[in-house]
Amino acid sequence: MGGLPATMRAARFDAETKALTVETVPVPAPGRGEVVVRVAACGICHSDLTQLDGHFTPRLPVITPGHETAGTVAAVGDEVDFWAPGDRVVVAAGRPCGSCRECRHGGGIDACERLEIMAFDYDGAWAEYVVTPATTLVGVPEHVPLEQAAVLADAVSTPYGALDTVGLRVAESVGIWGLGGLGTHLVQLTRISGASPIVALDPLPAARERALGLGADFVLDPLDDATPERLAEITDGHGLDVAFDCVGRASSIAQADRALGHRGRLALVGMSPDKLTLGAEMNFVRGRHTVVGHLGYRMSHLVDLVELVARGRLDVSGSISAVLPLEEAADGVRRLREHEGNPIRVLLKP
Ligand SMILES: [Zn+2]
Ligand SMILES: [Zn+2]
Repeated sequence: MGGLPATMRAARFDAETKALTVETVPVPAPGRGEVVVRVAACGICHSDLTQLDGHFTPRLPVITPGHETAGTVAAVGDEVDFWAPGDRVVVAAGRPCGSCRECRHGGGIDACERLEIMAFDYDGAWAEYVVTPATTLVGVPEHVPLEQAAVLADAVSTPYGALDTVGLRVAESVGIWGLGGLGTHLVQLTRISGASPIVALDPLPAARERALGLGADFVLDPLDDATPERLAEITDGHGLDVAFDCVGRASSIAQADRALGHRGRLALVGMSPDKLTLGAEMNFVRGRHTVVGHLGYRMSHLVDLVELVARGRLDVSGSISAVLPLEEAADGVRRLREHEGNPIRVLLKP
């Protein structure tokens, strides 16, 4: 397996002191069935902020953040048959636990009941190298930039998976609450899936403007008192077939649920500790509403997205707001936290 250096630079987060520092650490070695990937780029995600702010405690006391990455295979462990050094790959953000009921039956990453999440349960990719099971990799064609492949691993694949979760059909009306990384990509993905009309909602004018450019038919300010009425008008009084909440706040979820039409489905994609309140139970029952939580994606979704980008069906080039050197990880985190330049994704390049 040779070829790996002994040490590398990696961002390290200390859960106790909340310090994020870039340090020199040993390069991981690939175990049986594992691959070491030379990281080309890794995104900074809102869920990274959740961890850095102390709302979510990582499993390891000191951990390397970053779960949205692509790169090239640097070394493979024993029993890795399908990958070789130099292969260009995007890395799924989770790995199977290997011991739950589903894993015992061979279900792997798509079925695992206790999926381990990169950067929360094991070291992530704000580093020069990352180690991951070979089953978490999807090949990336030569002409797709690895920066673009990196954002597929969460910011695009998680909303793409949500289309499956709600079973979106062509010509269904959709509302998308929250136009950050998840919601902006949902606008693009519902557009290429044939949804109609697409209504995108965000308090930030710049985010709404961007959504119009990416395929939204209507954009609304959720804080505007006239918004519920506008939603009814746009759908000719029927309400939405599908709503996606990418905010996670009780207020946006309640507004999204109220905007649903008969047999409307609401997918909760954003996350927060807020309590769910859905109004009168009988309205929910009468409307035959479905509310469903959505997290993550299947490996096949990542395969689909590489295909769509490679064939030019999906353009994620505009999703890369900035690429910073790994040494500036803390500045990248600050940019996302302060919404500096309204970023979709800030990437770190080791
Ligand atoms: Zn994420
Ligand atoms: Zn499992």
